[in-house]
Amino acid sequence: MLKAALSQVNSRSLRLQFNAIRALSSAHSTGSNKYDVTIVGGGIVGLATARELLLQYPNLKFCVLEKEHRLSIHQTGHNSGVIHAGIYYTPGTLKAKLCVEGLKLMYKYCDEHGVPYKKAGKLIVATEQEEIPRLDKLYSRAQENGCKVEIIDGSEIQSIEPHCRGLKAIHSPETGIVDFGLVARTYGKEFEQKGGDIKLAFEVQDFKQNSDPKYPVVLTGNHEYQEVQSRFVIVCGGLYSDRLAAKSNCDQIPKIVPFRGEYLILKPEKTYLAKGNIYPVPNPALPFLGFHFTPRMNGDVWLGPNALLAFKREGYKFFDFNLRDSIDAITFSGLRKLVFKNLSAGFGEIYRSMMVGAQVKQLQRFIPELSVKDVMRGPAGVRAQALDTDGNLVDDFIFDSGHGSFGKRMLHVRNAPSPAATSSLAIARMIADEVKTRFEL
Ligand SMILES: Cc1cc2nc3c(=O)[nH]c(=O)nc-3n(C[C@H](O)[C@H](O)[C@H](O)COP(=O)(O)OP(=O)(O)OC[C@H]3O[C@@H](n4cnc5c(N)ncnc54)[C@H](O)[C@@H]3O)c2cc1C
Repeated sequence: MLKAALSQVNSRSLRLQFNAIRALSSAHSTGSNKYDVTIVGGGIVGLATARELLLQYPNLKFCVLEKEHRLSIHQTGHNSGVIHAGIYYTPGTLKAKLCVEGLKLMYKYCDEHGVPYKKAGKLIVATEQEEIPRLDKLYSRAQENGCKVEIIDGSEIQSIEPHCRGLKAIHSPETGIVDFGLVARTYGKEFEQKGGDIKLAFEVQDFKQNSDPKYPVVLTGNHEYQEVQSRFVIVCGGLYSDRLAAKSNCDQIPKIVPFRGEYLILKPEKTYLAKGNIYPVPNPALPFLGFHFTPRMNGDVWLGPNALLAFKREGYKFFDFNLRDSIDAITFSGLRKLVFKNLSAGFGEIYRSMMVGAQVKQLQRFIPELSVKDVMRGPAGVRAQALDTDGNLVDDFIFDSGHGSFGKRMLHVRNAPSPAATSSLAIARMIADEVKTRFEL
């Protein structure tokens, strides 16, 4: 009798758990599983795209599928939080155009939706004579891109950042800071208020052909009952964009290689050392390397990040490891070529990751009074770096529809390079334009 009662309790608790998961995965949703457009990935790119499409096509049914229990906890929730002005990017490129446009749209959006931000400004500081020609070139580039910038000398640097030393700098008053996770969740909220559905805890496992010709694509989740039918699908899967693309017969390349970026944090009593963003003159070969000082919306100041090969996609700790992710990265010829081309930079990053003193030494070039006891270890982010087979960093947006039956139904955003958070609203408009040319919505 006791056994029977226990088994009843167990099956009841299992049922409750099952219902709880089901409720969570259809949280916010209307309960239907048929959509005109389904967007996979609830990061800032997926949510901005969902919002934009819903604004343009208010009569269609949209859904966002996100594998986590919360929106935007990966790249979007683990970054420097800088609203970039568009200084670095080659004039005329999409990246430059989208960033300059994205910054304006971002400030407007934040103003209209009450998202707090600060125009904290930015200095790109040359501390060595040999950096000055590169700084001057960067200044011309910024002007060509239409950024509001000025070039200043050592004494002017100190009038903006009293603790910073340097020979010459670019000053960008328009550069800002924001919590991009909050921005993305605000896009999500607006999307839902306008009638879009968001299904959390729905990890898309596969894309299948449906027998119903009206909704030809079926997206299956990691639980048996999770299924969505859709006319069209847009995939914005961040660190998993290559694997999601491969599921619908797209090429394996470009491959995503995860790079972890670790931050240090200034101790609270030392945050006065940096008022705004202070950046080094970038190395054109490895533009995402280079420690910087970045104030945060909560008053903290982050230093970093470095860039280390991560042995787990979405692995935020030094010892995080995933066998499949590691084998995937190490056996990829593109990564091996990148590593051999940049051996010394790579070893430097590993050394600096282990030795806080080595990172601080780099930062003392800008703020000489900084010392090891002023900092503590902080969080990390993992960057989805797209690589080609020759080991080149893919710097452009890549759209892919793959081959075969899904070709006319799916659009994979395989690479949305940094600063995709700043540019998200402009990227969303570009994706909406791309959708129009490919799909008959
Ligand atoms: C360390 C670091 C610093 C950065 N600093 C800045 C900065 O200062 N300014 C700036 O503009 N940009 C910055 N960036 C870049 C910016 O953060 C990213 O370009 C941007 O967040 C990318 O957004 P996303 O939506 O493409 O990716 P993500 O935010 O990673 O979102 C992808 C989403 O897809 C979901 N997903 C994946 N697979 C599945 C699946 N099978 N089913 C359902 N959902 C799935 C994931 O869970 C995730 O939520 C930085 C990036 C890093 C890593």
